[in-house]
Amino acid sequence: MTIPAYGANAADQPLEPLQIHRREPGPNDVQIEISFCGVCHSDLHTVRSEWGGTLFPCVPGHEIVGQVSAVGDQVDGFKVGDTVGVGCMVDSCQQCPSCLEGDEQYCTGGGFVGTYNGTTTDAPGHTLGGYSQRIVVDANFVLHIRHPKEQLAAVAPLLCAGITTYSPLRHWDVGPGKKVGVVGIGGLGHMGIKIAHAMGAQVVAFTTSESKREDARKLGADEVINSRNSEEMEAHAGSFDFILDTVAASHDLDALTELLTRDGTLTLVGVPEHPHPSPTVGNLIFRRRSIAGSLIGGIAETQEMLDFCSEHGIVADIEMIRIQQIDEAYDRMQRSDVKYRFVVDNSTLAA
Ligand code: NAP
Ligand code: ZN
Repeated sequence: MTIPAYGANAADQPLEPLQIHRREPGPNDVQIEISFCGVCHSDLHTVRSEWGGTLFPCVPGHEIVGQVSAVGDQVDGFKVGDTVGVGCMVDSCQQCPSCLEGDEQYCTGGGFVGTYNGTTTDAPGHTLGGYSQRIVVDANFVLHIRHPKEQLAAVAPLLCAGITTYSPLRHWDVGPGKKVGVVGIGGLGHMGIKIAHAMGAQVVAFTTSESKREDARKLGADEVINSRNSEEMEAHAGSFDFILDTVAASHDLDALTELLTRDGTLTLVGVPEHPHPSPTVGNLIFRRRSIAGSLIGGIAETQEMLDFCSEHGIVADIEMIRIQQIDEAYDRMQRSDVKYRFVVDNSTLAA
């Protein structure tokens, strides 16, 4: 079947209306009519080929929420009319140790299949994401949404920004008694603040935007630091158990490792176009500090995060856009001018 979508034909071209193919649902598939799709900075990195390797036409979008419109005859966890989500993955080998342990994002049996720019036998030979009217996904990669229906648009960003921050916060045991930093208050960062606060940690937000200082407290930060103010930074030297760095551009990491306590960890989730300057070894060895990385989260953990957010009343702070405004939204995201996630109203694809 052919459906309307929005995407780019080349890295230096704006996004435009496209007609794309979706497969008929197979026995294990769920077909979803997409209501809303969040706009992740990874969409921008990919469509403009900042990381290289982008396949065109490129239809981004991996923060998908919508309603089930058909299910294959082997599917028993979903039925027509269910409210569901799809995040950054639509498949994996489901057999390697990572997949069997619920860490499909670290699949070693060929790697997970991304919701866009991933390998598929469907036309045109690579996956096409959520800036589209409909998607067909293996039921193992579909999530149940239990938030109230009127919050659906603001739930979409949980599918990437939510899980990408929840997973490392859980992995590094963030909770009561822990002092946690969240660097960069964008789509990921604002979710990180909300989730770390709900986990009971003392949360400090780091921003380069003075205009976000007040907001960050409303999001759940106990304190806010302008990371370009060295006095404010130095006042926290050696005090953080964990720092989550969501910044989408290369920057100095030493200013952050200095803030960690003995055995503290700085975990990077931002994937800048250009590498960070090499960090100073001395900052690490004298206090046995670590720099780590983390990639989205597994499917079971994504469901756990959605349920955690539903129980704690957590959704994203969003600005809804028509799909025709997507290039303008990218330009604003590039300037850190979004509070705090753009979400596409997919009904505007029909306009
Ligand atoms: P975003 O909404 O654009 O937020 C990034 C924030 O970083 C900005 O709002 C800004 O916050 C800060 N920032 C930007 N440029 C900066 C600079 N030059 N120096 C210091 N701070 C700067 O992006 P996002 O969607 O949250 O994504 C963030 C990054 O994570 C992207 O690289 C994305 O590709 C990556 N990502 C990784 C994963 C994963 O699994 N690891 C998953 C999703 C996304 P302030 O205004 O507060 O300074
Ligand atoms: Zn993303």
